[in-house]
Amino acid sequence: MGDVFVLAEHRRGELREVTLEMLGKGRELAGQLGGQLKAVLLGHGVDAFAKELADQAHEVLVVEDERLENFNSELYQKVLASLLTERKPTLTLIGHTACGMDLAPSLAAELNLPLATDCIGFEFEDGRLLAIREMYGGKLQARVSFLESRISNLESQYMATVRQAAFPLQELEPLGGQIVALDSPLAEEARRKKFIEYVEAAVGEVDITQSEIVVAVGRGIKERENLEIVEKLAEAVGGVLAGSRPVIDAGWLPPERQVGQSGKTVKPKLYIAVGISGASQHLAGMKGSETIVAINKDPNAPIFNVATYGIVDDLFKVVPALTEQLSGA
Ligand SMILES: Cc1cc2nc3c(=O)[nH]c(=O)nc-3n(C[C@H](O)[C@H](O)[C@H](O)COP(=O)(O)OP(=O)(O)OC[C@H]3O[C@@H](n4cnc5c(N)ncnc54)[C@H](O)[C@@H]3O)c2cc1C
Repeated sequence: MGDVFVLAEHRRGELREVTLEMLGKGRELAGQLGGQLKAVLLGHGVDAFAKELADQAHEVLVVEDERLENFNSELYQKVLASLLTERKPTLTLIGHTACGMDLAPSLAAELNLPLATDCIGFEFEDGRLLAIREMYGGKLQARVSFLESRISNLESQYMATVRQAAFPLQELEPLGGQIVALDSPLAEEARRKKFIEYVEAAVGEVDITQSEIVVAVGRGIKERENLEIVEKLAEAVGGVLAGSRPVIDAGWLPPERQVGQSGKTVKPKLYIAVGISGASQHLAGMKGSETIVAINKDPNAPIFNVATYGIVDDLFKVVPALTEQLSGA
């Protein structure tokens, strides 16, 4: 009773960060619900992940099956439906990722569980769990309550998908959880979906989500020709160049460089925002960055609300001066 399950997401030999973010938040929620935090790990040859997760959870429930080597929502659904029906956690957290979006709605429908998607926070009100979600493109935040479960008269069960980078990665005291191997309930191969292969991004493309330094440029740059000064800054700090939506829409940078709600979510060590106002849709994709430096001539630009350091001045003056300093020229 009161247990929180977190579905571990992994891909190509790596645990996705959202898993650890959910475990950090999940620990707090399990404490408030008076239950335990359990990581659920499905896969093949995942002992190393199980050990890593054991530090962050009271228990790691592992289903080892070669059919689970790569994510397949049909098979994941089968395993999780059986696990959740049997163990009845109060709350199940799944990353709001491509995998989670594929899996959670169908799983919740099968189990008749209330599901809140793309959550960025959780609260309790009169002992009732509420999820926080953004609405109207991030202009509003809504606190939503869950319908009581209709599955049975037993304990209520809820499910939520959690936005990536909504919760920080925390250095928490290791829990030294127990690793529990469970039998795979899978009786057959997947029938409707089949994993084929991972397709690498085309050569020359940059994965801005993996860079420790991101220099993002916004509409303040005014013209494509002016991008060069920001490119030079990115080079000087050893970062990658990204952009706000208007810059992408104008075709000045490719779509995979867009940061924000309809682009990529980044969490670099350093994010430099150049001529970006800080609309909520942009902030959604970068506010989890460790250090944010904003350069904007408008002192009231909302980007300064999330910035660690702000420079209120003309970017055409500041950026070349900064580049010169950083290049030691
Ligand atoms: C459903 C939806 C999804 C969206 N998704 C995204 C998304 O994923 N990513 C995203 O970025 N946006 C997204 N948007 C758009 C978002 O609402 C904003 O319109 C956009 O982020 C604004 O980009 P910007 O800050 O570059 O431009 P602006 O808001 O025009 O800001 C330009 C800034 O540059 C400053 N500036 C101008 N000249 C100079 C100068 N010489 N020196 C210094 N500063 C200067 C100005 O003061 C201003 O603050 C989305 C919108 C919707 C409705």
